[in-house]
This record gives sequence, C-alpha cells and structure tokens, in this order.
Amino acid sequence: MHIPFNLPHLTGKETHYMYQAVERGKLSGNGEYTKRCQAFFEQRYGFKKTLLTTSGTDALEMCAMLCNLQPGDEVIVPSYTFVSTALAFLREGANVVFADSMKRNPNLDAETLEALITPRTRVIAPVHYAGVACDMDVIMAVAEKHNLLVVEDAAQALDSYYISPKTGEKQPLGGIGHLGAMSFHETKNITAGGEGGLLIINDERMIHRAEILWEKGTNRAEFFRGEVNKYGWVDMGSSFLPAEINAAFLWAQLENIEDIQSKRKQLWNRYYDRLSKIASETTFNLPNLPSYATNNAHMFYLIFPTLDKRTKFVQYLREQDILTVFHYLPLHSSKYYEDKHDGRALPECDRYADTLVRLPMYYDLALEDVDRICTIIEKIYD
Ligand SMILES: *Cc1c(COP(=O)(O)O)cnc(C)c1O
Repeated sequence: MHIPFNLPHLTGKETHYMYQAVERGKLSGNGEYTKRCQAFFEQRYGFKKTLLTTSGTDALEMCAMLCNLQPGDEVIVPSYTFVSTALAFLREGANVVFADSMKRNPNLDAETLEALITPRTRVIAPVHYAGVACDMDVIMAVAEKHNLLVVEDAAQALDSYYISPKTGEKQPLGGIGHLGAMSFHETKNITAGGEGGLLIINDERMIHRAEILWEKGTNRAEFFRGEVNKYGWVDMGSSFLPAEINAAFLWAQLENIEDIQSKRKQLWNRYYDRLSKIASETTFNLPNLPSYATNNAHMFYLIFPTLDKRTKFVQYLREQDILTVFHYLPLHSSKYYEDKHDGRALPECDRYADTLVRLPMYYDLALEDVDRICTIIEKIYD
C-alpha cells in the first residue's frame, strides 16, 4: 500500500464554515472568522496580539518590516531552515549572518551567538525546528545584553512550549521573542486551506504599526474600530491579510486542535517506541528533545551516520512505496547567498542537510501504518 509523506487533514467542518462565510456576504479579510481565529490564539496561548496572514512567509516579512532595519544591519538566522526565514530580512536590506546548528538537534546553537554579534547586529531569528524549542533563556539574555530584537520562526511550532530551566515557567513558542511567525501551510499540523500564517506581536509597542502594515499601509483597522473618522495612507504595507474563506477553513481546524494534536502525538510516540529498539550510532539516531522543550509532534525524523546510509534508506523505503523526504539545503552555501556569506564553515548544518530524513507524519496515518513502516525498517537492520 502506498504511503505518502504528507496528506492534509479535513476535520469535516471546513466547507460548512466556508459556506457560512460566503452566506454572510463578506469575503475579504479581517471578517468574522479572522477575528475568531485571532481571539482563539490570544486566549489559548496568551499572545498579546495576533494577525492572520496569507502565509508563514508573509508573517515573517511583517516581522522583518516591524524591525525597522537599515541597509547593512545584520540579522542572525540559522542556516538550517526554510528560505523564508532569511529572505524576509534580506528583502528589508539587511545582511543575513548564518548560525550553525547544535550537535544534539538542528536548532540554532545559542552558545555560538555572542561570537556572531557585531555593532551592526539588530535581530536574532531562531527557528524552532520540528516544533522543538530553541534555548530561549540564553537567546533572550544575549538579545537583552546587546539590545537586539528576537523574531521567532515558529512556523512548525504550533502548540509547543519552552519550559524555562531557571524559573520553570512554560511559555508558548512564538510568544517569547518580540515577534513570532507561524505557518498553516498544508504540511504543518493545521492548515488554513493550503496556505496561511499568523503574526504574533508580543511587544506592545509594535501592535499599532503591525495593523497598518497588515492593511496595505493604511489605518483602516483604527477606522473600523471607530477610533478615527477617515482612513488613509500612513506607512509602508502590503496585502498581508487572508480572505475569510481561508480563516473559515482554519477555524474548523482550530476547533479540533486537541484531537489533531493528540493523534499526532500517538503516531510520534509509536515511531519512537518501536524505532528506539534499533536506533544506535551505526543505524540512525532518533530526535533528541532537550528537557526545556515540549513535543508538538510536527515531524518525526531520523539522523543517519552518513549521506550514503540515508540515500540507501530513502531508496529502500521508496521501493516499498513509502515516501520519506529530506531538507534543507544549507542556506549559507546556496546558489543565491554563497557569495554574500562570510565564508565560515557550518559543519552541523551541513551534517543535518546530509543525514536527516523525515518519515510520513499526518493525522490520517493509522497506527497500523506506522507499525508497517517500522517493521520494514527493522528488516533493513536484521
Ligand atoms: C513552513 C515554514 C515557513 C514558511 O511558511 P509558509 O506558510 O509556507 O510561507 C517558514 N519557516 C519554516 C521553518 C517553515 O517550516
């Protein structure tokens, strides 16, 4: 039986809510479903202010705009991430300084940050890879010491937390830095109908401007609240807000977030339990979660000892009609950025690029499917 790598899940209510949005007769952005979704995030996670966006990339672009960067300013971004994390800042004229990953997991190595900071550094943009928290106490302390902004790429981090080793406080990812961005692309835990995102504004001073950027550089949000009697062009901006149809789709998924998360964690734990019996330095390693991180079961990945072993593994599973994928090509040595990079080697990033593989992980995958995949993997190492 064919097992794809990902399948978007339908809770059953999506088209009903989309139809309701149509019946209501207001389809453009910032309508009833948009407000409902935003209120959901603000209440459930205590985010100060959230704005739905048309993608995670758009949310990151808004973050970068809100950082008010000048040409030549520097932003520290992990090299092992999706293009959008770096691109958002590059578009604002900043130079991206790439950081290496940790040995224990692909997240940015917070211990290397101090060495990357110069008088031009303005922002640190950690990515919570696989929904696993970066070492936020360290990152926030470095940022505070050097007066930097922190933009969390929480695209994969819905419903995941950082537990401070110092205070024991449990903080939702995306809600710790000054700004955060989430994605509701169809490959993420929940989707807004294919594409979607969320801007999280934790620094109150940025809320006013965020609303303006969101509404194409106008103060229309204030106008709708009756705070001004005319609205006009007051700043930069773009069309970052999604149509109500997408918000309606997302609402159906949010209503089922508990069910979705619990099913994904079941699948994740089943992979972990079964594969931990054969994981080793010579076969493959399993995800390594620090004690300060929770698991949101966004992704189940394996790390192989060599590129060659990973290639053989991917081929073998493909022959059994099971699709696995790997990513990311290091950004620091990409065709587009290679010449702009400062030449530092980032060995951990390169290692993950060569050796990490993601197993099928989606709501409609059955526990029996996971068992079948694990049995096939066991056979390789018999
Ligand atoms: C998915 C993802 C993005 C981009 O989100 P889109 O909604 O696809 O634009 C950015 N960063 C990371 C780490 C991602 O996984």
